[in-house]
Amino acid sequence: MSRLVLKNGRIVDPVRQMDRVADLAIEDGVVREIAPAIGTTGAEVFDASGLIVAPGFIDMHVHLREPGFEYSETIETGSHAAAAGGFTSICCMPNTQPVNDSPTVTHYILERARQKAPVNVYPIGAITKGSAGEELASIASMKKAGIVAISDDGRPVMNARVIRRAMQLAASLNLPLIEHCEDLNLSAGGDMHEGLQSTRLGLRGIPRASEDVMVARDILLAELTGVRYHVAHISSKNAVDMVAYAKSKGLPVTAEATPHHFVLADADMAPYDSNYKMKPPLRESQDVAAVARGLANGTIDAIATDHAPHPGDEKMQEFERCPFGILGLETAIGLSLEHLYHSGKVGLSQLISMFTVRPARILSLERGTLAPGSPADVTIFSLDHEWTYDVNRSASKSRNSPFHGHLFRGGPIATIVGGQIVWRFA
Ligand SMILES: [Zn+2]
Repeated sequence: MSRLVLKNGRIVDPVRQMDRVADLAIEDGVVREIAPAIGTTGAEVFDASGLIVAPGFIDMHVHLREPGFEYSETIETGSHAAAAGGFTSICCMPNTQPVNDSPTVTHYILERARQKAPVNVYPIGAITKGSAGEELASIASMKKAGIVAISDDGRPVMNARVIRRAMQLAASLNLPLIEHCEDLNLSAGGDMHEGLQSTRLGLRGIPRASEDVMVARDILLAELTGVRYHVAHISSKNAVDMVAYAKSKGLPVTAEATPHHFVLADADMAPYDSNYKMKPPLRESQDVAAVARGLANGTIDAIATDHAPHPGDEKMQEFERCPFGILGLETAIGLSLEHLYHSGKVGLSQLISMFTVRPARILSLERGTLAPGSPADVTIFSLDHEWTYDVNRSASKSRNSPFHGHLFRGGPIATIVGGQIVWRFA
């Protein structure tokens, strides 16, 4: 029997409304007991004094680039970056090569993850074949193979008739449908948010409306079909308002936000620095405030990183030619602590729920709590140790982060998956 005891941590489990200093015992990969002064005979001991002990964090939006783009990231490197960021479970988007639109690719990802990943990897299947937006992918058989949701992330489903049929099917399979909300006709050619800053920099703009019209369309179709509908990386104030409207009507609509969308505005961009180029683009300060407010008041359910690695030679081109997306896994906890918790916008238990039970419920994962009998996935972090993010030491294969050199207050200390310590702060 393997036994691990976490001593004297502040255990915060939102599901059980628990926030107290105690010991936590893990046996054979399962949470066994939470109590004061648990005996440690024959056990490995981790001193968690002064640290937060939380259910394992789940990132429901990650790009692992394998198969097909292994020069950017692999299942192995991306999942090590996840562990270093305090995540015990990640969900990988299907925009690989080939696209994860069939059980063959789903099985491949799960098998690679079983061999190489220190964290749990849950594949998300494509909505349409090749994510081309026309014919539905093999959704039912991918569900049997192990996908936890469907999405054509990066390539939104533009045809309303196609997305309606996908929603009907997803509803009948009880699979959540995750949309990358972007009307491609409105955003075509754009490199950053359309506004004063894009005019000033002479870059082509992506209007807020490209996101808003897609969220509006989808909420109406979600009502029609009854699908569990989830808005990926929400970034505009109107979109947040529409999700609030959907929730007020009792629709099963949820949303996630990335740290960069509640931390940075377009005016914060280092001009022409592609580490600030992503979709949706960094918007204006009123949108950043609306996203933070949406997280605080529960309109936005979860924090997800949209970890999107691109290698240096792709990101070193001129701004207009660079691909969209930035790394996210290793800075998410630090940024969330700084901008939501230390700033007083969100309490600790609420912040933890955005990384644990809420994504678990959206995806129907049997995770997100430290209740005895649960899988022993644990995220241990500090609220106040100072550390500087050095992207050149990232576990990711790529280096595209605007937070290189940022001084953080609080961040991950150890990551435990299935009772094994898979990463420790060094
Ligand atoms: Zn996306």
